Amino acid sequence: MPDLTNNLHDVQVAIARVAGMAPITLLAVSKRHPASAIRELFAAGQHDFGENYVQEALEKQAQLADLEIVWHFIGPIQSNKTRDIANAFAWVHSVDRSKVAERLSSQRDPQLPALNVCVQVNLSAEETKSGVALQEVEALCQAINTLPNLSLRGLMAIPAALETYEQQRACFAPLQREFERLKALFPSLDTLSIGMSADFEAAIAEGSTLVRIGTALFGARQ
Ligand SMILES: *Cc1c(COP(=O)(O)O)cnc(C)c1O
Repeated sequence: MPDLTNNLHDVQVAIARVAGMAPITLLAVSKRHPASAIRELFAAGQHDFGENYVQEALEKQAQLADLEIVWHFIGPIQSNKTRDIANAFAWVHSVDRSKVAERLSSQRDPQLPALNVCVQVNLSAEETKSGVALQEVEALCQAINTLPNLSLRGLMAIPAALETYEQQRACFAPLQREFERLKALFPSLDTLSIGMSADFEAAIAEGSTLVRIGTALFGARQ
């Protein structure tokens, strides 16, 4: 059994070492880890959790309904799952087309606070990866900004795995520039969701405000 409380402490220290005083949100990515592991990290003070698969997330949410967890959806979005995603999460990081944004907005219970959304950007231009090209981000932000039950909060990316710190920073840099440019157009933008276990130091150096960490917290997935 990994000591999750120790792992959390180590990750927090590693983030603070790079970020200094800049506030960084740590999102614990709990996909394919049991509800018991989430419960343990919650008890250690971690409140934001990210899930990739709707059905798996709903099952864990039912088991953890007694905890005030902030749930983030970070996986690919199928159109037929938008109703569950719209209502079972506080954040969605993986919006990559206006059709999905429209469905999330129309299906979100209007009694709930607006759903916080990030636009997923494809930095590696790989056809298999989801996300819009950098040149299309502004148009999608514009579309989301008009929808009543969504709050446009940020940009998110999952770049291809790169070997060195310098390569990782070079990959994130254009996204940070676009984020800074768009913040002037969309004042609600405050979240740059980049950085995973293998590249969070480079992501923070390139302006990340939220890192999504799985392996370094929970250990390897099955
Ligand atoms: C799985 C996943 C993560 C976490 O990855 P680790 O390398 O385990 O830290 C972060 N973001 C997304 C979108 C993921 O699917």
